[in-house]
Amino acid sequence: MKIKVVKRLLEANDRVAEENRRLLKEKGIFTINLMSGPGAGKTSVLVRTIEALKDRVPIGVIEGDITGTDDAARIDALGVPVVQINTEGACHLDAGMVREALDEIPLESISLLFIENVGNLVCPAEFNVGEDVKIMVLSVTEGDDKPLKYPLMFRESDALIINKTDLLPHTDVDMEKIRDNALSLNPGLKIFEVSCRTGSGIPAWTAYLSTL
Ligand code: MG
Ligand code: ZN
Repeated sequence: MKIKVVKRLLEANDRVAEENRRLLKEKGIFTINLMSGPGAGKTSVLVRTIEALKDRVPIGVIEGDITGTDDAARIDALGVPVVQINTEGACHLDAGMVREALDEIPLESISLLFIENVGNLVCPAEFNVGEDVKIMVLSVTEGDDKPLKYPLMFRESDALIINKTDLLPHTDVDMEKIRDNALSLNPGLKIFEVSCRTGSGIPAWTAYLSTL
């Protein structure tokens, strides 16, 4: 019985996600669902990405957080249109929330949309919101066991950004093990090692974005 209810919920979400996808496609917008656990650096990745691309590509951002507007303020400071969704406790974005946020974004004037999901390694991966691709961020301080402990997000993602590589010398984390574990779940996963703090690896990441 419970299984049926969950399935219906996900099916209803998928229908709205499909509407979002159709609308975004119609407007010629490529959409990225950016996911990670809390504190991995999604917003920092966005700031670096926008700084690198905004002169060439008109970008919009939807910020998902349980509460607050801190991340939206960081994006707003870059002069990019941004809408904050506060989920008021919900630990992921769903397609309906994104549908409402799309009304507040100038869809005619952007061609790339980032949807920063709520920081959570689990259920954001279960809810499509109308994106073209899912991309996740993992910071090296989270440990090399995370792909095997939270496999769904690694399986669902098209690319993995491993952030905070500047901290590697201060940890016992094994970068090869992160890569091997992630690739064992998703052999096609593109992996980028970056430090948003130093900017290292950002050019390779933004070059990949341009190929999407
Ligand atoms: Mg954030
Ligand atoms: Zn959730």
